[in-house]
Amino acid sequence: MTTSRDDRSALGEDSGGESTPAVIETRGLTKTYGHVAALKALDLSVRKNSIFGFLGPNGAGKSTTMKLLLGLARPTSGSGSIFGKDIVSEDFQIRRRVGYLAQDPRYYGHMTARETLRFVARFFYSGPESAIERRVDESLSLVGLSDRADRRIRGFSGGELQRLGLAQAQINDPELLILDEPAASLDPMGRRDVLEIMARLRDEQNTTIFYSTHILDDVQRVSDSVAILERGRLLAQAPIDELLTTGGAGGTVYELALKGESGAALEQARTCVRSQSWISSLEESSEPGGERRWIVKVTDESATEENLLRLVLQTRGVRVTGFGRKRQSLEEAFFDLIEKDSNGEV
Ligand code: ADP
Repeated sequence: MTTSRDDRSALGEDSGGESTPAVIETRGLTKTYGHVAALKALDLSVRKNSIFGFLGPNGAGKSTTMKLLLGLARPTSGSGSIFGKDIVSEDFQIRRRVGYLAQDPRYYGHMTARETLRFVARFFYSGPESAIERRVDESLSLVGLSDRADRRIRGFSGGELQRLGLAQAQINDPELLILDEPAASLDPMGRRDVLEIMARLRDEQNTTIFYSTHILDDVQRVSDSVAILERGRLLAQAPIDELLTTGGAGGTVYELALKGESGAALEQARTCVRSQSWISSLEESSEPGGERRWIVKVTDESATEENLLRLVLQTRGVRVTGFGRKRQSLEEAFFDLIEKDSNGEV
């Protein structure tokens, strides 16, 4: 084998360690097709060893971004780098270290999975045949296709085809995998398999994975970071835990369960809380058993931790049965951001 990752590290090309720059970095990256602004001034930063979900509805500009990163399209303005190398002038060096799975990959139906991978592996490896066969076997095993390796691709299911696509994309042991909608066309089982393979690649082979999707559920299951794109514009970019607790641009949300001796007591507590400068909204709903539920959006977490509970409890006749930070679902965070964007608030 001639281009293993170990060789590249030995040549000083690898970028290990905490202080290293992000694997993917873009600044003001913009692409316009005629009158269509497909991508508007994208600033993106993808850390090494992350599974980064690039989320957005159809037409948001996800594929355009990936094509720009891979040197398959030229930016109208702005810049980008992968492993610190420029995506326009050094695209050849970048592609050597990146694996890519297109949205709709095509295969020769008469070939088997093994023949397909062997064919691709020969582009990358100039070593002995035995080394190529070993790499093909490893890749088949990684994606769970060892027992179907010698069947013609023509009879493969959608899920098997996508697993073959992943095997093919990572055959050159890339440091970065760019996957365009890898699970979009699959049923739930197929999607689960693909997500598991992605997690295995990150955990066992330290591969950084940048993948696009419009399926919120997938992002929540497998990604550690997420960027949300809408009509070419980046609405949010954050570690997923952060996005789910802050709701992107929505501020942190706390949830309280309360009981009041009287409506007046609860009213007094609500008025007191709402008057605080660090409270941006308070919504109340009734729960079974006479409990009330408050959803409180705040702008200052430490002021909240210090004061919110105390303010409520100092109102005579109000008891608190539950208090905590509310984790939003990604769906809530996503629609919150989209709504804010259409109101011009993002
Ligand atoms: P996504 O991958 O998020 O579905 P795309 O990047 O494919 O979105 O498309 C973003 C926008 O750019 C869409 O409006 C699309 O029609 C347009 N677009 C993409 N590629 C081209 C092209 N080659 N020529 C003209 N318009 C394009």
